[in-house]
Amino acid sequence: MASVSGLIDKVIDELTMYPVKRFYPTYVEKCTGLPLKTVFEYLLDLVNANKLELKWEVCCPNYGCAHTVTILDTLPLEVGTTVNCSVCGDEVEITENNLRPIFLVNEEYKESRQAFWVELKKKKREITPVLTV
Ligand SMILES: [Zn+2]
Repeated sequence: MASVSGLIDKVIDELTMYPVKRFYPTYVEKCTGLPLKTVFEYLLDLVNANKLELKWEVCCPNYGCAHTVTILDTLPLEVGTTVNCSVCGDEVEITENNLRPIFLVNEEYKESRQAFWVELKKKKREITPVLTV
């Protein structure tokens, strides 16, 4: 059986090959079948290793809107911080209910991985299906 890091690294590697802007931990959970807690903890390790960046997405809680209001770099420390929803115009209070962690692949890491794929392609001419599940 593949290790936790092996399974998740494979998913992250796959993400570096495509113009994926950001992803949810639940995406990795689905791809790997690992418990979300395990996934999240390992993704945080990757954040510490500068391979990923952690941001916080604020969603509009209005029924039928559910629009992403904003993406925060850090968690708001003040209770009652609000932002305006650009879609329905409502003032949205940031609470744990409408805050979701999202991950981005660090640009430098992404570039280094892409360079690696290019090299690999050159060497093998025909790239092996490294990413088959
Ligand atoms: Zn809204």
